[in-house]
Amino acid sequence: MRKSVLVTGGAGFIGSHLIDRLIGAGNDVICVDNFFTGSKTNIEHLIGNPRFELMRHDVTFPLYLEVDEIYNLACPASPIHYQRDPVQTTKTNVHGAINMLGMAKRLRCRIFQASTSEVYGDPAVHPQTEDYWGNVNPIGPRSCYDEGKRCAETLFFDYHRQHGLEIKVARIFNTYGPRMQVGDGRVVSNLIVQALKDEPITIYGDGSQTRSFCFVEDMVEGILRFMASDSTLTGPINLGNPAEISIRELAERVIDVTGSGSKLTFLKKPTDDPERRRPDIGLAKATLGWKPTVDLQEGLRRTIAYFDSVLARAGGLTVEA
Ligand code: NAD
Ligand code: UDP
Ligand code: UDP
Repeated sequence: MRKSVLVTGGAGFIGSHLIDRLIGAGNDVICVDNFFTGSKTNIEHLIGNPRFELMRHDVTFPLYLEVDEIYNLACPASPIHYQRDPVQTTKTNVHGAINMLGMAKRLRCRIFQASTSEVYGDPAVHPQTEDYWGNVNPIGPRSCYDEGKRCAETLFFDYHRQHGLEIKVARIFNTYGPRMQVGDGRVVSNLIVQALKDEPITIYGDGSQTRSFCFVEDMVEGILRFMASDSTLTGPINLGNPAEISIRELAERVIDVTGSGSKLTFLKKPTDDPERRRPDIGLAKATLGWKPTVDLQEGLRRTIAYFDSVLARAGGLTVEA
């Protein structure tokens, strides 16, 4: 059935891929974004498509639209960006959630929340299961994001219990792929851009900390399956790739695939940077029949090809494939 769908944060990395899939399936999409970290280039191929509408708006302010479904993704995801204006980050997470939930309540429509593995903080349980309550510093530099997302989860579950809303809360683990910004600041884009430019590869700390990286195509498939699932399935549900890797090893893989001459440089580790992270995706496998299909080697290859073409267009260096 053709639906009218609102995607907040739709000019961002994950949001723009999600919109491509929604439009490809024959839906009408309204993309709401304030362009804090998103980019018009991520959605420029959709401008002029009668099924696509772009609206510059900050979700911390009320918004009245008529839609059948809401995906709430608006929020900067990279630590350097969400820490630049931490008060705005909390407002985006909390006021943004309230406004989108208010809209879902008025329209009686289903609403998806892009929550995060950061709700587990620096986890004492490994791998992380959905019933783990987390280990989060409430007053540190990451708190605007972590606690903002935790409060948003609280709001989603209270609107569900109090107002009977159909909610879908996904805890997204580190996701990467084409359309991350060159200056995004997250590890995969930083390392690839540095490697392609033969610049020093910045490792924060000794690189022994781990993450588990999911290719964006797999993530969007998981999000869509979750949104289409039975209304009793509220989440929270982990979505991510359980293949865990240290940051140092990731850097070596990037150097290998790019054939770069870059050397590693070790910088100070940021405050409260989690030591280990890996999703337990048993719930998503059992309820959605979903698991990632793109391994790190293939995902890196495709992401590197993307950044190579972006840098080439910007007059940067290209590497031999
Ligand atoms: P992104 O920064 O590329 O996209 C976020 C988008 O939200 C941007 O287009 C930005 O301009 C927009 N935005 C920010 N504040 C806004 C506001 N107040 N009003 C309207 N728009 C606003 O990040 P992403 O990686 O695409 O992440 C999308 C969502 O998924 C975020 O909510 C993020 O917290 C969540 N998430 C992402 C990851 C990941 O690894 N990519 C992991 C966990 C959770
Ligand atoms: N809201 C919105 N769009 C809507 C409906 C509501 O932005 O279509 C906002 C509204 O401004 C309010 C918030 O969402 O501040 C929460 O709405 P709700 O109805 O839950 O709360 P109330 O209006 O009763 O405070
Ligand atoms: N990191 C790094 N070099 C960089 C960027 C990040 O070593 O240039 C590290 C960072 O300290 C963290 C991991 O890589 O341990 C993932 O960082 P990112 O900002 O991508 O995501 P998050 O910390 O939110 O998982």
